[in-house]
Amino acid sequence: MQNRNATTEPETTRTPPAGGPEERFGLLLEAVRRRITKQQYATWFQRTSLVRWQGADLAIGVPNTFYQQWFQRHFRAMIAEVAGALTSSAVQVTFQLAGQLAVPLAGGEAPTAGTPTPAEPTTPGTSMGASPGTPPSAAAVAPTPAPAPVGPTPFHGTGHDDRPLLLGQHYTFENFIVGPSNHMAYASARAVAQEPGRAYNPLFIHGPVGLGKTHLLHAVCHEFLARSPSERICFLSCEEFINEFLLALKLNDVDRFRQRFREVHLLVIDDIHFLAGKERTQEEFFHLFNRLYQQHRQIVISSDAAPSEIPTLEDRLVSRFKWGLVANLEQPEMETRMAILRRKAELQGVEVPADVVEFIAANFRSNIREIEGALLSVMARARITSAPIDLPLAQEALAPSLHRARPAVTMDQILERVAAHYQVKPSDLRSKKRTRLVSLARQVVMVLARRLTPLSLGEIGQHFGGRDHTTVLYGIAKVEAEMLANPRFQSEINRLADRLA
Ligand code: ADP
Ligand code: MG
Repeated sequence: MQNRNATTEPETTRTPPAGGPEERFGLLLEAVRRRITKQQYATWFQRTSLVRWQGADLAIGVPNTFYQQWFQRHFRAMIAEVAGALTSSAVQVTFQLAGQLAVPLAGGEAPTAGTPTPAEPTTPGTSMGASPGTPPSAAAVAPTPAPAPVGPTPFHGTGHDDRPLLLGQHYTFENFIVGPSNHMAYASARAVAQEPGRAYNPLFIHGPVGLGKTHLLHAVCHEFLARSPSERICFLSCEEFINEFLLALKLNDVDRFRQRFREVHLLVIDDIHFLAGKERTQEEFFHLFNRLYQQHRQIVISSDAAPSEIPTLEDRLVSRFKWGLVANLEQPEMETRMAILRRKAELQGVEVPADVVEFIAANFRSNIREIEGALLSVMARARITSAPIDLPLAQEALAPSLHRARPAVTMDQILERVAAHYQVKPSDLRSKKRTRLVSLARQVVMVLARRLTPLSLGEIGQHFGGRDHTTVLYGIAKVEAEMLANPRFQSEINRLADRLA
């Protein structure tokens, strides 16, 4: 078996045999490792094993039910996303108890011998026990690990709260690419982190999935922590808030639930739209909000919809959410998408040629998570085939998801749009006519066809009175050189592409 110890050299120790589920699983772990902290990886992933990966069915072995619940709640979505990106199709992820079957993988020092591993959830421990969310390696120093009945919650408190705060290490302001689509949300998040309780309270960030809400919330916490390490943060997803509140109700333990929020300086709730239809939790949250607000404690909230668009959200909450600043995130422009891709590649430590960045950015537009998934697929293919990352490889790697993603733009649509833009006739573009404007428009069509359709160079040439593929290639190269030299021309072409797709 390969060594999955994150603290050794995974690149060299975990190179899997070619092909097959084991190899894919190795790539998956690799991708996961890059997304979370070393500590998290060592704690949770080191003891996983592959049970099976057949088609859309991925079963991962975990040592006990505690792990199983934790993975289910906190890692399932991420694993499904990475697995989906690797296979270019949806993957159903389950976690199976593999304790009896799979021996912990070699080379681990973290939660193995001598270290109390997370046990089955039992009775709540005393307040001095190891925290429920404490990873096993940290629990080793505590006399009795005492998991809470709810199981662990990942994003809580600083060292002062009873739970560790696990922030995505890359989710910082520095790694957030700013463009017109997200500038407002970024600037207000930054202001709030710098002047908590004073700049805007609450800060309400909303936008569709995958556009950086969670990233910004983590960034606020990172910066807040760096500035005020002794102050308390409470960061949780709305679902966690709801679950824990309901559980507290059931256990008649609401006081303790409230206690957790008492001395919090920064409260961050992700995906507040889940409060829809949860009347009792809304009521509880309303009171919590008022209490913290009156004490000038900063509140930051994210949502997939604007306050007044969250169905069945009480009016009094809607109005409170509007007291501070409501900022939204929009679909990023081509330039922003390209910059994000470059940054993500840099964070992954891989070099991705400019044309590949452009190809991905042009084809995946609405969701940054998908863009990242596309980059991962390209990297995975390069690794599997030991080939360098270049445009043909990227096209191959992404072909399945591209064809699924959206109906292809047709050549006629491109011709019409470009002809209208340059005020020439589509028939001129198909003809042999060689005025400067017509030639330019024709070359622009070639570039867009290359980006937006699956057609080969030769096939594109067919649409221009049988010009051969070298002519097409020359046209594309000319436009691309001009784009590089002239940012305004570049934006013009990108806008044309955006409107077509
Ligand atoms: P949301 O919470 O809105 O669904 P996330 O915050 O999870 O979205 O973002 C999805 C992915 O996209 C994350 O990996 C995040 O780092 C990345 N991302 C989104 N916007 C940006 C940006 N402007 N710069 C860099 N990365 C971004
Ligand atoms: Mg999110």
